[in-house]
Amino acid sequence: MDVFSPIDLHCHSTASDGTLAPAEVVARAAEKGVRVLALTDHDTVAGLGEAENAAHALNIHLIPGAELSCAWEGRDLHVVALGIDRADAMLLAALAEIRSMRERRLQRMAEKLEKRGIPGMAEAVQGRSAISMPTRTHLARALLDAGRVRTLQEAFDRYLQPGKPAWVKAEWPEMEAVVRLIHAVGGRAVLAHPLAYGMTGAWLRRTLTAFRETGGDAVEVVCGNTDRQRVDTALGQTLRAGLQGSVGSDFHGPANPWIELGRLRPLPAAVTPVWKNWNDVEKRLTN
Ligand code: AMP
Ligand code: MN
Ligand code: MN
Ligand code: MN
Repeated sequence: MDVFSPIDLHCHSTASDGTLAPAEVVARAAEKGVRVLALTDHDTVAGLGEAENAAHALNIHLIPGAELSCAWEGRDLHVVALGIDRADAMLLAALAEIRSMRERRLQRMAEKLEKRGIPGMAEAVQGRSAISMPTRTHLARALLDAGRVRTLQEAFDRYLQPGKPAWVKAEWPEMEAVVRLIHAVGGRAVLAHPLAYGMTGAWLRRTLTAFRETGGDAVEVVCGNTDRQRVDTALGQTLRAGLQGSVGSDFHGPANPWIELGRLRPLPAAVTPVWKNWNDVEKRLTN
């Protein structure tokens, strides 16, 4: 089975919780044979300028993107924005607000850890996220470096997941507002990793229907490290909801050997690709 794709529309850099700088992500994508790449850092466009320069030099078609967190029916969802105007003032203002909320949230999580006898995490996170969008991953890495856990996964499992001692719920913007924002800045809205929310099939159906009704465009049918069965499940749900399809590895860095840039199954022909009428992209994919 071919698990290589020349198009990868979801990955992260040091602008959020990835471990490679934006230019390094682009260079690695080129090495892997990717020709069309979207850099989609969590709630930030700060890495896109550097990525664009690197992409230009390496003849990669870079799509300006971001992965926006949002809330729907009390659940947290991730929406990948593709083809956005990264200089738009309204977008930058919205992202600045999310940044403040994220900072307050991590501060409160650090306070909870301190109460449990793990001091110093607020400072550690501040140091780590000075130039990037702060995420729980930064806190997990701080716990790892302080020797409080042996793996990042353990940090999430023991402290940082819902129901665990350091968990603090985030106040994400509503799904509808996020989709509206993406469209207002010229982008397309893609529901990320549909099978990663731990939803039953019925809930996912409701979610995708609501996503389409708020104006959402596509679903990430093919994700990194997914088997054919999961692709088929996501495909069925996407077609049923009348949405287009997208592909994205969700690469965060070389430390996770299971996820690699461009290591993706092909998007099934039954679904319309979200890049269908993007002529530049089609051109890059066919020659
Ligand atoms: P945040 O957006 O601050 O809530 O952080 C979420 C980020 O943490 C995600 O983008 C993932 O990269 C990472 N993450 C969430 N859950 C886990 C987990 N169980 N193991 C490893 N990383 C995780
Ligand atoms: Mn992440
Ligand atoms: Mn995500
Ligand atoms: Mn992601």
